[in-house]
Amino acid sequence: MHVDQLYLDLNAFFASVEQQEEPRLRDRPVAVIPNMVETTCCIAVSYEAKAFGIKTGTAVWRARELCPAIVLLPARHDVYVRYHQRIHDEILRHVPAVAVCSIDEFTTTLGGRDRELAAARALADRIKRGLRETIGPAVTCSIGLAPNRLLAKIAGDMRKPDGLTWILPAEIKEKLAPLALDELPGIGKGNLARLRNAGVGTVSALLDLDPRHARAIWHSVAGERFLRALQGGPYGELDTRRRQISHSQILAPENRSHPMARAVARVLLEKATRRMRREGYCAGRLWVGCRDRSGGRHGVEVRLPATQSDRALLGLFDHLWRRIEVRAEPSLKKVSIGLSDLVAVGARQGDLFIDRRLDIERRDERLAKAVDTIKDRFGASAIRYGAMPKGLAAYTGGRIAFTRIPLPEDCMQ
Ligand SMILES: [Mg+2]
Repeated sequence: MHVDQLYLDLNAFFASVEQQEEPRLRDRPVAVIPNMVETTCCIAVSYEAKAFGIKTGTAVWRARELCPAIVLLPARHDVYVRYHQRIHDEILRHVPAVAVCSIDEFTTTLGGRDRELAAARALADRIKRGLRETIGPAVTCSIGLAPNRLLAKIAGDMRKPDGLTWILPAEIKEKLAPLALDELPGIGKGNLARLRNAGVGTVSALLDLDPRHARAIWHSVAGERFLRALQGGPYGELDTRRRQISHSQILAPENRSHPMARAVARVLLEKATRRMRREGYCAGRLWVGCRDRSGGRHGVEVRLPATQSDRALLGLFDHLWRRIEVRAEPSLKKVSIGLSDLVAVGARQGDLFIDRRLDIERRDERLAKAVDTIKDRFGASAIRYGAMPKGLAAYTGGRIAFTRIPLPEDCMQ
């Protein structure tokens, strides 16, 4: 009767933080949206709003139709990051180590006596009580206990809000069978279609497969790993090596023209390069993308000798952006930038034949570090490369990516 992993998922996190901050919002239907326009969609929905059929991803106009009394609030990512950190600290009062999976999800490996189901349940209750007392009653979580992280996450998803669910090794089949295939984390449209084509229509049928068969269906070893974990085997530790740093933003209406969108994308790139330097990486690839008003997606990328220089990256950005402008409609909805092929600074290969270029590069990197120091002291907008266009809508910083928790300074303007 043992479980090895505890998975904690906060319920309707952004919306419940707003309810915690503002008691009159408790028990009311609340949705958090990226910016105050009718064309955007809800990014977090309180359980009172869910009762009306509103979900994450529901368009604002549709949410109003489903529930005219809904309270719509613009996202305040800096506040959510502060809560995330306090929650992290509280969990650490109960367990020796915790891995952060996203802004609202944490997992910890149980050891010793805590692996015994009764003890694990008592631990989960203590964490819940601790969060209630130190964070507040409006912020609740669902906890899953299981033989590995994948099954613990699935268990946690089974009862929301404020659930505590477990899956023992002997119960895997019985507890997973009622789920639909696409309720399993990691099974998206593509995998679902491939599973159907292979004659696998239910979770039970998937559990009966030989894991090597899953590798063939997925066209990847990831399928085999996934199925082995679903059957109760070990699941890879969280991969903490960084492969890319990316930022994107849904544009406020004032920022949708090409010059404004370009300015937003440049700010995102400055944030990403600063973060990359802080973490000690250089990028070997830069990409820039956008979505235009009719949904067209355009992306361009370039490979480069690994660098962490703002000047080099912003120069390449300008070049890539000109290619975006030719392709995209005049009005854009979203911009994204990404730095990938990351290598640790120490592991970077020098280009021995172009000493001069390397000299310039190092000088630029020193300049970038000086700019970082100024931003650390006086805020991210204290110094910028190039002028910002007039009328740029505020709050271009600190959006929360699914797997990356911004530091408080990322949220500063
Ligand atoms: Mg959640």
